Amino acid sequence: MARLVQKFGGTSVANLERMEAVAERVKRAYDAGDEVAVVVSAMAGETDRLCAHVEAVGPLYDAREYDVVVASGEQVSAGVFALVLQRAGVPARSWQGWQVPVKTDGAHGKARIVAIDTGELNRRMAGREVPVVCGFQGIGPDHRITTLGRGGSDTSAVALAAALRADRCDIYTDVDGVYTCDPRIVGKARKLDKITFEEMLEMASLGAKVLQTRAVELAMKEGVRLQVLSSFTDVPGTLVVGEDEVLEQEVISGVTYSRDEAKITLVRVPDRPGVAAGIFGPLAEANINVDMIVQNVAAESATTDLTFTVREADLERAVAVISQHRDRIGYADLRSDANVVKVSVIGVGMRSHAGVAQRMFSTLAEKGINIQVISTSEIKVSVLIEEIYTELALRALHTAYGLDAT
Ligand code: ADP
Ligand code: ASP
Ligand code: MG
Repeated sequence: MARLVQKFGGTSVANLERMEAVAERVKRAYDAGDEVAVVVSAMAGETDRLCAHVEAVGPLYDAREYDVVVASGEQVSAGVFALVLQRAGVPARSWQGWQVPVKTDGAHGKARIVAIDTGELNRRMAGREVPVVCGFQGIGPDHRITTLGRGGSDTSAVALAAALRADRCDIYTDVDGVYTCDPRIVGKARKLDKITFEEMLEMASLGAKVLQTRAVELAMKEGVRLQVLSSFTDVPGTLVVGEDEVLEQEVISGVTYSRDEAKITLVRVPDRPGVAAGIFGPLAEANINVDMIVQNVAAESATTDLTFTVREADLERAVAVISQHRDRIGYADLRSDANVVKVSVIGVGMRSHAGVAQRMFSTLAEKGINIQVISTSEIKVSVLIEEIYTELALRALHTAYGLDAT
């Protein structure tokens, strides 16, 4: 007998037919004697629809009311799924975040889970009841509903698995595992049987939406055994594991992309101490994250150009903040561009192999793709390129690193 958390994403609970198929999966584990806790997302497309209601009112909305609106998608799917389970003969009840409670901090719209009270859930699971918990939502210190950021049901599931000391957290989705690249873009992408936490963390934070970054962070910290698998088929998925569990490590394990990037270039910025602080200080105060940065040293003139990237959604605000400080910063011109994409290659094998970045640069050069910004860390290389080249770049890099399925 095992204790399992099974999380079903939007496409897995998209309609009654899908819910019935998924309920059979829960029932199979339940009938075999396992203790199962279910976490559900909103039905596919629902959260986007709810976000649109909020955005229609205006761009500068109260995040607490945003949370009230968007959390409702999970309330519906949890209730309907509990009914479907009951009809299949499995005793089940729905739980909203505040009912568990899933306690979070007060950062509405992107809250972090701080604690989950499992007392009542434990008692009921011991009595052979299946809790169906709303993913994505919790309750803040202000006693109001919070949400965890898009894709946050993954994090709800991992946090619940940690709190319940579950043997495994299974993330059921519409692909049968973690691939070397998004299989919807690179047809030759290969499914990985195992991936290390560290690589999965990089892949998620660099754009692979198959798992929310915080879910991976939390699983790594809490030692939750995590599996990504399909709710449509019965094949084994991808296990996210510690480095000691991976026998043969490839140099590169994946290629990712993120379209949620925008570039700002400040032309002819004075080259003197304090200028970078003068630019990035106000951005930080406005809660705008800056990702990649390049600055040239000024060779002869006393000015230089400075380029950096922010999330696309933050571009307008970032431009406004910088413009407000124009006199103090003293740049000649500000150019912004949202038609960019960040493409990254990731692998722990990079630590011991030279030439990984060079292969990336030469592969893109062969395709005539210009690199605008580069950034590296111990286990990844990222480049910013024009958005129209996304598919071409991903496929070329996937082939160049020998990742194509045979
Ligand atoms: P869910 O609604 O089940 O949470 P998501 O849409 O959030 O599903 O995540 C699954 C999607 O992630 C897949 O449909 C796939 O297109 C995308 N994806 C991106 N990168 C990868 C990758 N490296 N491996 C697998 N899927 C990926
Ligand atoms: N329903 C939420 C979203 O679409 C959470 C999730 O699906 O993980 O972002
Ligand atoms: Mg998801």
